[in-house]
Amino acid sequence: MQIPMVDLAIQYREMKVDIDRAVSNVLETTQFIMGPHGNAFEEEMAEYLGVKHAIGVSSGTEALHLALRAAGIGPGDEVITSPFTFIATAEAIAYVGATPVFVDIDPRTFNLDAGLVVAAVTSRTRAVLPVHLFGQPADLAPLKALCDDRGLLLVEDCAQSCGATYGGRKTGGWGDVGCYSFFPSKNLGCCGDGGLIATNRDDLAEQVRMLRNHGSRERYHHAVIGYNSRLDDLQAAILRIKLQHLDRFNRQRRDNAHLYSRLLGELGVETPYEDGKGVHVYHQYTILTDRRSELQAALTAAKIASAIYYPIPLHRQEVFAELCQGVSMPVSEQVASRVLSLPIYPELSPGQIERVVDTIAGGLKDIA
Ligand SMILES: *Cc1c(COP(=O)(O)O)cnc(C)c1O
Repeated sequence: MQIPMVDLAIQYREMKVDIDRAVSNVLETTQFIMGPHGNAFEEEMAEYLGVKHAIGVSSGTEALHLALRAAGIGPGDEVITSPFTFIATAEAIAYVGATPVFVDIDPRTFNLDAGLVVAAVTSRTRAVLPVHLFGQPADLAPLKALCDDRGLLLVEDCAQSCGATYGGRKTGGWGDVGCYSFFPSKNLGCCGDGGLIATNRDDLAEQVRMLRNHGSRERYHHAVIGYNSRLDDLQAAILRIKLQHLDRFNRQRRDNAHLYSRLLGELGVETPYEDGKGVHVYHQYTILTDRRSELQAALTAAKIASAIYYPIPLHRQEVFAELCQGVSMPVSEQVASRVLSLPIYPELSPGQIERVVDTIAGGLKDIA
């Protein structure tokens, strides 16, 4: 039997009755855009995240883009972020014409090294954009203190951390803005593209609401050039159902991760580090190894999926070649060359985890 990286069919089967009912409700009422499910989902997410405003948008990438745009960040401005993330984090900075400034990561959490961020602040810096990579919250307290002190915007990329907490509060509510993705494989995923902006700031919420809907507050009155970046009601209706199960799914992800770590730890594998400042929700379960290609080959032979998130840090991407000429981020480069993500999802069984671990054990024995 194959073990995939994620198995979305299990969740659908479990919630099929509710999801099918919600979908047909939207189809029957034909309120597809800015309808009742969208509004209800926004209220439920605001409550869940503990923020004043939750605003549905068309993707996680758009959430980041509109957050920066709403804050008035643009050409000449610098935004500090991690080079060890999905490209969308930096794309959003480029969309508004600002410059991404990459700062190296912590070797154990893979998140932005808060200690290095301070030195990267210049007179052009307008925002700090930490990513809660793989579901572990970045170290927000020092970043927030720095941003408060220097008058910088704190934007959280929560695409992988839906439901994670830091210091007892959900990620996304710490900064000025939290940006979520509901890409199908994320911890809270829809059946297409979707995203959300969380904020306690009325001014940013108002801007985002306008920007996502063609720059209009009132129909056919357009104050600014906006976008078509709304979350549709079919997705919102599905997300409302999945949200009810999110905490349980995240607990199951953590339980699975801890079983992996216990078993892999016995083999001497470098397992994910939890810094204890937040609650990791294991969007990915990522080990470090010097024998990555050998282990991947062993897993593939046993029909077990594995993946490399991310093989090339952003400062080494072709698209940033000019911007990052001569830039070196030793920790990110080292980590990118050693990471290996294993299958993780709520429904992964202990037996499957044992099979993955046994396969890794076999792979390590072959190498030795
Ligand atoms: C998935 C992801 C995004 C983008 O979200 P989309 O909904 O796919 O646009 C942004 N940042 C990170 C870290 C992600 O993992």
